[in-house]
Amino acid sequence: MDTLLEGLTLADPEAARIVAFYRTAETPELVREADRVCRSVHGDGVWIRGLVEFDNYCDRGCAYCGIRKDNANVRRYRLEPAQVVDTVREGWNAGLKSFVLQGGEDPAYSVDMFREILHGIFSFAPEAAVVLSVGIRAKRDYKALREAGASRYLLRFETSDPALHRSLRGGIPLSRRLRALEDLREAGFEVGSGYMVGLPGETEEIRIANALLCRKLELDMVGIGPFIPHPDTPLGNSPQEPIELAVRATALVRLLLPQANIPATTAAGSLHKAGREKLMAAGANVLMPNLTPGTVRKDYLLYPGKICLDESGLDCLRCLDVRTGLVNKVARTGRGDSPSWTTRQTRGEPANSFRENPS
Ligand code: SAH
Ligand code: SF4
Repeated sequence: MDTLLEGLTLADPEAARIVAFYRTAETPELVREADRVCRSVHGDGVWIRGLVEFDNYCDRGCAYCGIRKDNANVRRYRLEPAQVVDTVREGWNAGLKSFVLQGGEDPAYSVDMFREILHGIFSFAPEAAVVLSVGIRAKRDYKALREAGASRYLLRFETSDPALHRSLRGGIPLSRRLRALEDLREAGFEVGSGYMVGLPGETEEIRIANALLCRKLELDMVGIGPFIPHPDTPLGNSPQEPIELAVRATALVRLLLPQANIPATTAAGSLHKAGREKLMAAGANVLMPNLTPGTVRKDYLLYPGKICLDESGLDCLRCLDVRTGLVNKVARTGRGDSPSWTTRQTRGEPANSFRENPS
């Protein structure tokens, strides 16, 4: 066992026990246990969040990503705040209560533009939950966005291995990503992070450390998706690892973080036609139908083979009852705050509560 893993498990015997089970369990047994734990905390419900990919400009050069700055083949777009609000309104009218706004790391999308979006959304949907996923920004921006009413933020750490992280993320160290996660907690967000599985150079020990890092960070939301090589990136010729890696990773994170909200990601559904069902069966309890307007939907391609490019947002919504039904779960609209977040609020814990020894 390497030092990173030792550091993450030694102080946490419960985590060590779960990892020992993971190492020896066959996938069906692991999945059964994760499903049992998921249902004991979250019941059979799956929260539905409307996804709006509002901006594909990005200043970064992440080696895995199809919309990285250097990819000249991308047709770039930046939706106006009013277009984002209109898109959310369609989802709201269809009954959704939580929305994820995702985009590249784009400094041109100013805090004022986000304020305009949030103000617009809350004018007709005061109790909606708005989740932002727009990369690393200044600490003062996080505070301003929180004050403007965004309640959650997703920022995956992508891989817990410092050397791999630096090489895949254009020289940006893992410590910078982790500091951003602390800043988000301090700003009062419900915090989400996560990682890709199957990156070139990743080992089984790194995958286990990824899951343990999620527990150490006490994440409220964890997104796990298979890495899918995009031909227009430096990793374009990398091998495609099987979906089973993402299934096992989801189950392990569910066991380590019973209270977290875990999406069955679009990437899983793109790699395998039953990918999202497999993740839901392994402990995922969130689905994110794509509401992005058809005019730009095909231009937000982080990886090839992305599903649901030709359907409308409402088609996506209709499809979800079927998908959840396949794994004996029920689609639910509602804010879907994570139980860990609700507990934190009730306890009145300080917002920046990364503890050294999670218990
Ligand atoms: N710019 C923001 C949000 C958009 S990227 C950010 O980077 O945080 C959202 C996620 O897409 C990333 O966190 C990454 O995990 C995932 N992603 C990017 N390229 C991918 C690929 N080739 N295969 C699978 N997932 C990918
Ligand atoms: Fe930009 Fe996010 Fe893609 Fe990195 S993963 S290039 S930050 S959109």
